[in-house]
Amino acid sequence: MNFEELVEITEGRTKLLVPSLSLSNTVPPKVPAFFNPVARLNRDISILVYKTFITNIKSDRRTFGDPFGGVGARSLRVAVEIPEIEHIFVNDRNIFAINAARKAATINLVSEKCGFTSEDVVSFLANHSSGKNGKFTVVDLDPFGSPAGYVDCVLRAVVKGGLVSITATDTAVLCGVHPNVCMRKYYGRSLHSTYSRETALRILISLISLTAARLDLVVHPIFVHLNHHYIRVYLTVAVSRSGANSINRKIGYLRDCTRCGDRNATYEIGRNDRCELCGNSYRFGGKLWSADLFDKDFVRKMICVLDSEGDTVGRVRQLRRTLSTCLDELDDIPFYFQSDEIASKLSTNPRSLQDIIERLHSSGYRASRSSLDSNGFKTNAPINQILDLLA
Ligand SMILES: [Zn+2]
Repeated sequence: MNFEELVEITEGRTKLLVPSLSLSNTVPPKVPAFFNPVARLNRDISILVYKTFITNIKSDRRTFGDPFGGVGARSLRVAVEIPEIEHIFVNDRNIFAINAARKAATINLVSEKCGFTSEDVVSFLANHSSGKNGKFTVVDLDPFGSPAGYVDCVLRAVVKGGLVSITATDTAVLCGVHPNVCMRKYYGRSLHSTYSRETALRILISLISLTAARLDLVVHPIFVHLNHHYIRVYLTVAVSRSGANSINRKIGYLRDCTRCGDRNATYEIGRNDRCELCGNSYRFGGKLWSADLFDKDFVRKMICVLDSEGDTVGRVRQLRRTLSTCLDELDDIPFYFQSDEIASKLSTNPRSLQDIIERLHSSGYRASRSSLDSNGFKTNAPINQILDLLA
């Protein structure tokens, strides 16, 4: 391999060898290897989640699997920044990428606890689903595009009580641009709407939880985050037939009225359901995850870890703001409204989120910000009440 194409950068406390073109091009190229410098915040959050998780579980052997490891940006940071994880398995089909990861491991003095392979992702995960290689305590699946084809393999390759992190970058599919593709890949109808990011996230979790139930497993979302380019979910995995039996209590649908703008969640849909406010036919989203997105105790622990190690974890202030929004978020409500959307219906300027939330609270409604959309608010108030209160 030609190491001249690589440059050394430092992210967190870790030195990475990355293709020089990935730092200069607007869109990072896939050849000779993919590395996205803009995803640093995404990786900072991963490190924080993994560190919090690993320091709060009892386990004899703590391992980390990275099937789409690339140049090792995430797994080498785990190796350096989370010493509690004893073995790191980095895999990528791209030999150039995996050689760069191996060389960077040497530079960071973590070679001894890192294993490098260049297998097909399904084979890599299958090799860690039983037998001598052992399952992973944490698996991080970060593919190009949809993770749907790998969800089974990931769930089989994680220990009981372990953690899976799954990323989707086919956000257009999940956000309603290609609803038929979404249906066949995720078994849920996506909706093109002002709150489609949350629908997308919940359709992804629904697929993972339904797949888990098929394997007598139950997943529990502990943290989620997204931007325009990716959706990332973190879920713990437990063995529970009774939990798997009651999965349908956590899977539902959305009813969305395009005429008056109302939206609500339901467990059952009828073909002739009509909007209770205006009589228009609803359009439906889902199946989708209709339960909580965050484990609030876990988020509090993340804040403690951030406080104790803030300067090494990265963009602390931004992270802290996000985490405090997550703590207050009404994540049992599977949709939100946008302040712009309401202002446009009322033909006024948008009110501040704080003002909106206070007005809803003072009328006895539940209301919070949304960590998924800086312009979004969650409430159990119907649209006619929201418009009255904010007019
Ligand atoms: Zn309506």
